[in-house]
Amino acid sequence: RKADITCQVLVLGSGPGGYTAAFRAADLDQDTVLVERYGSLGGVCLNVGCIPSKALLHAAAVIEEAEAIAAHGISFGKPKIDLDKLRDFKDKVVGKLTGGLSGMAKQRKVRTVQGTGTFVSPHELEVEGADGKKLIRFEKAIIAAGSQSVKLPMFPWDDERILDSTRALELADVPKKLLVVGGGIIGLEMATVYAALGSEVTVVELMDQLMPGADKDLVKPLQQRISKRYKGIHLKTKVVEAKAQKNGIKVTFEGDDQPEGSIFDRVLVSIGRSPNGNKIGADKAGVEVTERGFIAVDRQMRTNVAHIFAIGDLVGQPMLAHKATHEGKVAAEVCAGMKSQFDARVIPSVAYTDPEIAWVGVTEREAKEKGLKVGVGKFPWAASGRAIGIDRTEGFTKLIFDEDTHRIIGAGIVGPHAGDLISELALAIEMGCEAADIGLTVHPHPTLSESVGMAAEVYEGTITDLY
Ligand code: FAD
Repeated sequence: RKADITCQVLVLGSGPGGYTAAFRAADLDQDTVLVERYGSLGGVCLNVGCIPSKALLHAAAVIEEAEAIAAHGISFGKPKIDLDKLRDFKDKVVGKLTGGLSGMAKQRKVRTVQGTGTFVSPHELEVEGADGKKLIRFEKAIIAAGSQSVKLPMFPWDDERILDSTRALELADVPKKLLVVGGGIIGLEMATVYAALGSEVTVVELMDQLMPGADKDLVKPLQQRISKRYKGIHLKTKVVEAKAQKNGIKVTFEGDDQPEGSIFDRVLVSIGRSPNGNKIGADKAGVEVTERGFIAVDRQMRTNVAHIFAIGDLVGQPMLAHKATHEGKVAAEVCAGMKSQFDARVIPSVAYTDPEIAWVGVTEREAKEKGLKVGVGKFPWAASGRAIGIDRTEGFTKLIFDEDTHRIIGAGIVGPHAGDLISELALAIEMGCEAADIGLTVHPHPTLSESVGMAAEVYEGTITDLY
């Protein structure tokens, strides 16, 4: 069969991994085709993930700030929420970014093909789109097909009151009673949005802590804050059944700490994401996929088939956009003959909740589990002039050092803007900084970033009188 399209580099999926790979390959003079099943480029992150959630979280933060400042003499009154306008704002933010990607693809002469792609041989992908089937023959391929949310099988998914994150971001309405199943980053971010808009939020989490990937002390200020605002937070609690009834979704729980009520207007299921590796005909290309749908790669992002690469959520944890983009660059560069490899020491994680929680590198719990000899420098924001000035003293900055070398190997921050503050520590770990390097770096005063330098000084023993 004759190919309809031929190219040097084929990229399957246009999320942060895929579009970055396609653009980098084109910039390196590779004739590149980008295949995407949806009409809009950008994948989960731009369309139904990072970007729309942050637009809505911005609105939530403004509402919360306005409420908080009332205690200091400035009142705006109860917020009036025009949901259509808010949805429009979010959609415009998404549209601006996804539209920008189309322009950038055109500029680089990346050909985009819309349709669902399936490998039919090690050098061919069949794309089924609105205008029929097309066969693409490629020299090299980069698989960036991403992930999708895990759907609990006992939920009546055809009922529109059951939400995954995509449906929750559609913001159809503000339910009176919202149950969030899964207290990870995505669930708690959506809880932040809906609580600010006026929903009565209940969170249930199977594990013994919210955001199980982060150190417990980092999560505590968030838990304390939302315990007061939400209807309930229930740890070590399992959902065993959900039934659609006229008056709501009736949920049955298992565990010692069960929520009071059992009927909810909406139920958001946010229990994780599963990779799309099993849905792309990988076997026809000879690419090995694990039972769970992940594709194993080496440091050059190469699969078991030498000319086929894989990147992003599909290749494993952490499932984060900034990991996908870096991997995308590596794969494209290797396709173009460069000797690049993915060599990041650490990848930061951020929950854009209120307060934000960010962490990078080794956590204290991991250090203990691995038997590492570590020391911790912790700076409570109660001692930060800036944190006091914004009335957010619950935060802290924690740095984790290797006791033998005094080199930084991990960090965690909780408080407003923690996500922006963590980058300095990712850089410090990449650069192999010692505590003195961080402590002697002059941070501007009065900023929250000062807490980073101060935490290093606490570790060094050059600051002792915090209060
Ligand atoms: P994806 O973004 O999943 O893109 C894959 C693309 O491939 C999709 O467009 C899909 O349609 C397409 N595709 C799949 N199969 C085919 C096929 N057979 N044919 C054609 N096209 C196909 N990460 C962060 O770093 N920060 C955040 O703040 C953040 N917030 C999030 C909030 C939510 C609600 C969610 C759900 C996720 C969030 N994430 C966040 C995670 C982030 O979205 C993902 O890590 C990131 O999108 C992964 O990029 P990717 O390129 O691997 O794949």
